[in-house]
Amino acid sequence: MRVKRTMDFDFGPTDPKTFLEALPEAFVILDRRGMTVFASGACEAIFGDAPRGLLGGGFLCRVDGAGLSRLQEALDALSAGESRPEAVPFQFATSGDRSLALEASVGRIQASPDGHLVVLTVRRPSPVVGELGVIARALDQIDEPVVVTDREGTIEYVNRAFERNSGFTREEAVGRTPRILRSGKHPDAFYRQMWETILAGESYHNRVLNRRKDGSLYYEEKTITPVRDASGQVSHFVATGIDVTSRVLAEQRLRAGAERYALSLRGANDGLWDWDFRTGRLHLSERWKSMLGFSDAEVGSALEDWFRLVHPDDLAELKAQIKAHVEGSRPHFEHEHRMRHRDGGFCWVLTRGLVVRDEEGKAYRMAGSQTDITDRKMAEAQLEHDALHDALTGLPNRALFLDRLELAMARARRAPDLSFAVMFLDLDRFKIVNDSLGHPAGDQLLMDFAGRIRKSLRASDTVARLGGDEFAVIVERVGTESEAAPFAERILECLAEPFILQGRQVFTSASIGIALYRERYTRRDDMVRDADAAMYRAKSTGRGRYAFFDTRLHSHAMRQLDLDSSLRHAVESAALEVHYQPIVRVAGGSLAGFEALVRWPHPEQGFISPAEFIPLAEETGLIYAIGLFVLRSACTFLKTAQGRLAGAKSLTMSVNLSGVQFLRPELLGQIDLVVRRCGVDPRSLKLEITESVLMEHAEFAEDMMAQMKAQNLSLSIDDFGTGYSSMKNLRRYPVDTVKLDQSFVQRMLSDPESLEIVRGSVAMAHRLGLEVVAEGIESAEQRELLEGMGCDYGQGFLFARALEPDAALDLVVAGKTW
Ligand code: C2E
Ligand code: MG
Ligand code: MG
Repeated sequence: MRVKRTMDFDFGPTDPKTFLEALPEAFVILDRRGMTVFASGACEAIFGDAPRGLLGGGFLCRVDGAGLSRLQEALDALSAGESRPEAVPFQFATSGDRSLALEASVGRIQASPDGHLVVLTVRRPSPVVGELGVIARALDQIDEPVVVTDREGTIEYVNRAFERNSGFTREEAVGRTPRILRSGKHPDAFYRQMWETILAGESYHNRVLNRRKDGSLYYEEKTITPVRDASGQVSHFVATGIDVTSRVLAEQRLRAGAERYALSLRGANDGLWDWDFRTGRLHLSERWKSMLGFSDAEVGSALEDWFRLVHPDDLAELKAQIKAHVEGSRPHFEHEHRMRHRDGGFCWVLTRGLVVRDEEGKAYRMAGSQTDITDRKMAEAQLEHDALHDALTGLPNRALFLDRLELAMARARRAPDLSFAVMFLDLDRFKIVNDSLGHPAGDQLLMDFAGRIRKSLRASDTVARLGGDEFAVIVERVGTESEAAPFAERILECLAEPFILQGRQVFTSASIGIALYRERYTRRDDMVRDADAAMYRAKSTGRGRYAFFDTRLHSHAMRQLDLDSSLRHAVESAALEVHYQPIVRVAGGSLAGFEALVRWPHPEQGFISPAEFIPLAEETGLIYAIGLFVLRSACTFLKTAQGRLAGAKSLTMSVNLSGVQFLRPELLGQIDLVVRRCGVDPRSLKLEITESVLMEHAEFAEDMMAQMKAQNLSLSIDDFGTGYSSMKNLRRYPVDTVKLDQSFVQRMLSDPESLEIVRGSVAMAHRLGLEVVAEGIESAEQRELLEGMGCDYGQGFLFARALEPDAALDLVVAGKTW
């Protein structure tokens, strides 16, 4: 039964009510007398009242007084043709006797010649952040960080200044809590008190020591203010902060000064010295000596006995300060310097003194105190260290790195033999480790990695962590590529050993980009940028490589360009070839199928490896054309092979799909078309997808693979084991076959760990109902081992390399077994 919502009013031939009913906003239409003549269905959701109850006087009588006058004002403005407010807030009493905060915009329609109707579009006010719009953009303009959280402390908004100051982007911050900034330097009670204050609805103000994303610490003068909604309830908190790090450091220094003064007044704790210029004798108090660990008799009474204990680097300055005071150019003598302690170390002291002058103003004696300030100096050094170092690895952070780079550049400008190199390092596959083994393992890897690089270089070189998995190095005193290369090699070498993370071996490598100092570098950022660019180049040629910016990078870029255009040409002129490598049943040695491997016979350079040109093709998009070509060739070959011999019907064909290809939705349609055109059974086509694609695009992969299965295609995981995902993980994907990466198969005989991985993988795969192909079998011994483990298939040079189509067909026809 339809509820009657209109009173006796006719909207004309095409009833506009139908349109209004279709909209999510609630519409209330009032006639001249303020009577509701229509209320749309959406009212129910917003007012919690059936629209029927709003008819007649049912709407306006429940609007609060202030709201009524605001609505009236808006209507007056409308009649006078003035601009009306976008939204008029009002309180509405529901039939359940709750007071709702609502807002409405007002409009008018000429319904009939003699009457206007007022249309109210009613909605709940949007929550604070949605409402921000213009305000959010305005907040982005100001210099102080602003954070808006909900009542639970979940961040809903941060402004740009926050991003700049903390290093977290908006995307990273929203949805998390301000806890991401915790420095660990405040006790829990500190935060508890903060929460108690703001939950009580009061503003909170305090100085907080926070940590940026890059680990550096900073002081913030923080104000957190509760934000109330229309009903007076606290719904959000807004926090603003001013970075006061430099002020705090200055204050601390000042306080230290005051402490020093108080200490020297106390005297008892200070050592005293008294130097008579006329006799040249120096008296040092017992405390002065014991402060440095000496007994009274162990230090003599000549000036030399004092100066001998001063740190050699500080002596000249100490003498200069004394001289300035004695000569009268300084009213006080006060100097901080290091003194040798009896135990062989150095401690920091503050030495103060005053000359005594005769009537003619000639100094004849000078006396003063010595205060131990080692603790303060260490605290200061620690603070300074924290501000300039990465908390996780203890390496210099970006700020200190840039500082040192500035110095190095200045030095090299003055003295060309002080040339140096900047290296930019990126940990290959760090993200995969982090995602699969978890953040603690990722942190551990970063720390171990940092430690190894640090050890592989000289003390004079700067190794810094710029953030994430990016590291940078300043290598001093290298001017040429041949001088710099050994350092890069040393770094790569030190990464060759596996890392042990949570008891498992993880192999990783780094890509290194190197920029050599050149006169044309005037800004340090340019050098970093070039090293970074070189790093990307290094990465694109494969993992665990290094590349120079400058000439060689330039020529590499040229080679890539050349390669790109000749590859394009090769694709267009159908010069690429597909070769087929047999896949053999390990037990029995019969031929099970082939893997299609693309080959590029280059007119000058011979066969260029797919490992080189596939990444390039992925970058330039040529991969789609290549992929389609390989797929077509492989299916045609399979059809031909199956036609040659009755027993060859069961042969399978494996085709590699690049990650880029896999991510294109139209791939499915293309495969379907090729399979149907060639007339092969989709079940005999095995698509190979690398493990890394699964890890990086888990959701999408699941979906895509389900669709592939629905087309009856078979699926293999290629290079399994290199991505650290566990076999169990595979359970979520509809996979038929796992291909164990050749690195394990090849290490299997010499490395017990690899042997266990292979054995475990085979067993686990079988338990999950998957078949296993071992890649890269080169020796009969390896095959024997694999056969013993029950591995299903093998592929490798022991059986055959990838063969030209004719040679591969011959194998089929001859019924070759191994
Ligand atoms: P993959 O899919 O893991 O292919 C196996 C690679 O191992 C092939 O190298 C093969 O020649 C090589 N191989 C086979 N048996 C042995 C052995 O016993 N010892 C050694 N050392 N190597 C062996 P290839 O042809 O150079 O291909 C390298 C990679 O390039 C392939 O690794 C695959 O990821 C990619 N690739 C090759 N063809 C295509 C293609 O048509 N499309 C796509 N997207 N990628 C392809
Ligand atoms: Mg493959
Ligand atoms: Mg493989």
